[in-house]
Amino acid sequence: MAGESATTPSSSAACPAVEAVGLTRRFGARVAVDGLDLTIPRNAAFGLLGANGAGKTTFLRLVTGLLLPSRGTVRVNGRCPVREARAVQRGLGFAMETGRLYPELRVAGFLRFAGSARGLSGKALADAIERVVDAFSLGSVTQRLVGHLSKGTQQRIALAQALLHDPPLVIVDEPTGSLDPLQRREVWSALAGLVGRRTLLICTHDLEEARALCARVAVLRAGQLVAEGATDAVLGGADTLSLFRPAPGAAPEPRA
Ligand code: ATP
Repeated sequence: MAGESATTPSSSAACPAVEAVGLTRRFGARVAVDGLDLTIPRNAAFGLLGANGAGKTTFLRLVTGLLLPSRGTVRVNGRCPVREARAVQRGLGFAMETGRLYPELRVAGFLRFAGSARGLSGKALADAIERVVDAFSLGSVTQRLVGHLSKGTQQRIALAQALLHDPPLVIVDEPTGSLDPLQRREVWSALAGLVGRRTLLICTHDLEEARALCARVAVLRAGQLVAEGATDAVLGGADTLSLFRPAPGAAPEPRA
């Protein structure tokens, strides 16, 4: 709807960025997200941690409206991602894995494509591209093919496209998983520059990354919240790794 913004009164600035209440998602007998109560505050970086299979991706898919809850609710900027999908999408950016960028497009063409998919056109699109190219130092590569660039630059492109429509919530999945130490620092610095006037939800396995970037973290295990709080408090304990070990007697992950 023209003129409707991601922060209209029903998604007032007082709402958390994400609020899950009793959120549950089953796949057959497997409960991927299990009665999750989680509030992600606005305008800070929040880390979502957990071992493989803990339920992080399923949670993100519930937040983005790609999956329906089996039970419970989730609200994003005060709105339901399924019933108010368009408003939620307008207020949300998703920095996808670099493998899901379009390697055969030039960077400028890819950003035009991504911005058009977000409903931008004309001067608004040109201005948005200029803004993100500047913010992520992509000026020297706009005419290069995405697939010919380093993983670190591709990660900055993934972030840039997520910011084109200037959303208040940006979800970043495994931002530096396959990067060398220098590229990791570059991406961390780009991410740190985003915090303040927007919320970053960063899904990561990397505790150093969570410590470097996130004000708060939550740790999932078998779909349940096992810890949540200020990053230093949650990750500063003597046996942080125990948060990631399966609970005694837990059912093993089924083999594909
Ligand atoms: P990773 O870090 O490996 O990506 P994750 O924390 O993101 O793991 P999920 O991908 O959310 O975990 O998976 C949680 C559980 O739900 C796993 O047991 C997984 O096998 C199961 N699962 C996820 N998606 C499906 C699906 N579409 N069908 C059946 N089971 C699924």
